[in-house]
Amino acid sequence: MDFRVQQFMAMIKAKNPGEAEFHQAVQEVSESLIPFIEENPKYKHAKILERIAEPERTIIFRVPWIDDKGDIQVNRGFRIEMNSAIGPYKGGLRFHPTVNLGILKFLAFEQVFKNSLTTLPMGGAKGGSDFDPKGKTDNEVMRFCQSFMTELFRHIGPDTDVPAGDIGVGGREIGYLFGQYKRLKNEFTGVLTGKGIDWGGSLIRPEATGYGLVYFTREMLATRGESFSGKISGSGNVAQFATEKVTELGGKVVTLSDSDGFIYDPEGISPEKLKYVMELKNVRRGRIKEYALKYNAEYHEGKRPWSIKCDIALPNATQNEIIADDATRLIGNGCICVAEGANMPSTAEAVEMFLKAHILYAPGKAANAGGVATSGLEMTQNSMRLPWLKNEVDERLQTIMKSIHETCVKFGKKEDGFINYVDGANIGGFVKVANAMIDQGVV
Ligand code: NDP
Repeated sequence: MDFRVQQFMAMIKAKNPGEAEFHQAVQEVSESLIPFIEENPKYKHAKILERIAEPERTIIFRVPWIDDKGDIQVNRGFRIEMNSAIGPYKGGLRFHPTVNLGILKFLAFEQVFKNSLTTLPMGGAKGGSDFDPKGKTDNEVMRFCQSFMTELFRHIGPDTDVPAGDIGVGGREIGYLFGQYKRLKNEFTGVLTGKGIDWGGSLIRPEATGYGLVYFTREMLATRGESFSGKISGSGNVAQFATEKVTELGGKVVTLSDSDGFIYDPEGISPEKLKYVMELKNVRRGRIKEYALKYNAEYHEGKRPWSIKCDIALPNATQNEIIADDATRLIGNGCICVAEGANMPSTAEAVEMFLKAHILYAPGKAANAGGVATSGLEMTQNSMRLPWLKNEVDERLQTIMKSIHETCVKFGKKEDGFINYVDGANIGGFVKVANAMIDQGVV
């Protein structure tokens, strides 16, 4: 590792002990940025890197609620308001038992660069709770969301901080959160995105992260004259709509996973089978294993899908789901492209291997930015009090994904023609935020 990166990381680790995912995210970014900053000393003098890695505000709060048995439960709530140099804080809420401060700081940090890449005026944030919606009744989820918002509402607002969904936070949770915000503030505003279509949501928002990922991957493949066929991890929001779009563009998706295991269907997950997955996951809230029973597909308990041969891998579940061994298998099996729908699904070792092998590799902050970009479009529609048509939103999403790809090429293309999307996304996302921070003084 470069000595300057080592020095910087020593400071980050001392200041933020025990936050492994945050260290991982900051290190990846600083490896791209430190050489760039050396060539552009105005960023060094303004201590932009030191400032950008420190949240503007961190809010941690108690979330007490009563379960269906009448017992009191206590969870912890968080909101990390990382950077507001180019717009109001913006980023999702994650409800998952693994949630902690380090994970949310890594996600908020990544969000700053991602939101900048979208071309829209949005700062970066992330939040959530260690609450596990799995196995809870609708009433329990509602009571939890109401208690969570009873504290969060005082910190957010349509011009201050606009949360959205992430793992464990979908349409149902956004509905309960919005209802409680409206009740407390007596205001109907665009304070959350991912809202229901009848009450301020944008068409295409549920599809946007998955669709955007596939649009971005299409641009990457085009740089090598290739097109689609692939496998996907996760079976949640991002995975479902990525599967839909890959299939629409002529590709074949052969795997889907959840935290218990993965299914392998060599015939491909057809639109009819995907409809079943959506009902299974979004309505019945069942396990992916049931797919294998219904369609006579293979089920691999407790495993991840990366050992199955494929051309394109789209990791869409969670952080660090591709480790070095998985990267070896993917490369060995002839995979030509890894584009991340999830945030930081590849470990640092895996990323290094992808870059070394010169396969097409896109980090989440570029490839999955379609979700937050469409949230930005939802904010615009809310401000105008005017909904756009489906086509209009989809076209804007495609234009944004193309533009993010162009930015990555501009800042990431090396002398031998190889596009390093990691450098491209990190530097491309950084410049706008850094310039805004310089313009706004030491705040
Ligand atoms: P969902 O909650 O809809 O789905 C998450 C999926 O990932 C589920 O299949 C879940 O399985 C699986 N998963 C979650 N945690 C783990 C784990 N620890 N190990 C294995 N599998 C796991 O979330 P989304 O689809 O919204 O989010 C998926 C990823 O995409 C996340 O990394 C998120 O940050 C990222 N993302 C999402 C955006 C969005 O708009 N929704 C925007 C940008 C990025 P199970 O059901 O068993 O928990």
